[in-house]
Amino acid sequence: MSRRSRGSNTWEVRASTLARNTHNLIRDIVENLQVEPNPNKPLIALSVGDPTTFGNLNPPEQVIQAVRDSIEWLSSRSYGPAKGHLEARQAVAQYSAHQGPIAPDDVILCSGCSHAIELAITAIADSGQNVLAPRPGFMIYKTVSEGLGINVKYYNLLPDQQWKIDLEDLESQIDDDTAAIIITNPSNPCGSVYSKEHLCEILEVAARNRVPIIADEIYEHFVFSNHEFTALSALSKDVPILTCSGLTKRFLVPGWRMGWVIIHDRHNIFGHEVRKGMANLATRILGPNTLIQRALPAILSCTPQSFFDDVVLFIENQAKLAFEELRCAPGLRPMMPQGAMYMMVEIKMSLFPKFKNELQFVEKMVAEQSVFCLPGQCFMYPNYMRIVLTVPEDIMREACKRITIFCKDHIVSRESLKEIDSNLVNVSSEAEVICASKC
Ligand SMILES: *Cc1c(COP(=O)(O)O)cnc(C)c1O
Repeated sequence: MSRRSRGSNTWEVRASTLARNTHNLIRDIVENLQVEPNPNKPLIALSVGDPTTFGNLNPPEQVIQAVRDSIEWLSSRSYGPAKGHLEARQAVAQYSAHQGPIAPDDVILCSGCSHAIELAITAIADSGQNVLAPRPGFMIYKTVSEGLGINVKYYNLLPDQQWKIDLEDLESQIDDDTAAIIITNPSNPCGSVYSKEHLCEILEVAARNRVPIIADEIYEHFVFSNHEFTALSALSKDVPILTCSGLTKRFLVPGWRMGWVIIHDRHNIFGHEVRKGMANLATRILGPNTLIQRALPAILSCTPQSFFDDVVLFIENQAKLAFEELRCAPGLRPMMPQGAMYMMVEIKMSLFPKFKNELQFVEKMVAEQSVFCLPGQCFMYPNYMRIVLTVPEDIMREACKRITIFCKDHIVSRESLKEIDSNLVNVSSEAEVICASKC
């Protein structure tokens, strides 16, 4: 169907279907919020999932030096192979050995983990098919799929079981058109880290239904004390897995745009065609930037373990701090994460009847307290908000203090609770528990 007639003498330039149907839910929601901070209080943005925002977390000197060295090399300026330079792919294979046996040919370098996810999804899903994604979950899966006519269906996570996957729900979502199950572990926004047992249960569902998995493991190794990260691919006997990761979060360099997808396919289920297809897709951008590719072997092998340990310990301490502080905020239920760099906080909306939903709650909190948290709707999960844990300690303390004041200012009084609605009787007892006994 042609969109215009050649003879027309007016300009008719329209955005493509792909362009019009591509949305970033977080951007859409945030742009529509009325977020005018209180001019008397400096804004604290607990919303941006970028560990560099506050300048307190930086990559180690070895990583910076690797890029300084890289810029001197001709090969850091030329085009590389579309899948990435062999030395860089070898380095990724070695760095990712915990995922299982990996050959350099199993690695495709990408422009950030987002691009790795896009490449993985588009390599195995066609328009009209669907992929299953977690709810609450990260929205990039929807952003890269929808415009191409790939549907995203959601399976539920269980907030009261440390955000484990509702396996029954997961299995019930699988249909003839399901091209892949996406697993985010550790999770953004939940901060959950799945046990080996749970990962095996997930693999069983995938194996029984013959559905490949896309594992978003950008937070690999980002786990707090007493928790252990296991790569899904390390446990898979037969389910083929595309694992997506990158430098972004662990090395604190989101702007460098370096990620990768690793093909785990012991029984050659993807076969030559999928591998070839992924190599084809890599040619669309001719490979990610070679300045970082050239530095990758040094970045991945020279970074001291103490750097990683320090970052994770810092985030764990922030999580403990935020948890302790927000436990005392009436009407909130912070959920202690096990890893990654976020905390989900439940907002008992029935105790804040002034607000129609959590969007209004976070809006008003910006207006009054200049603290901005992302509303749960950004993750398809109303009645929650997500806070980032990478902020400096004093700022985190101040933010929690202001959030607590905000809750105290707006929580329904006991008297008016009784008036509002007789079927809020349960809520009333809940309110009393929350207001009186916590702190
Ligand atoms: C940050 C993030 C990504 C994207 O990382 P980039 O390398 O910046 O593209 C992917 N998945 C999850 C779950 C993330 O939180």
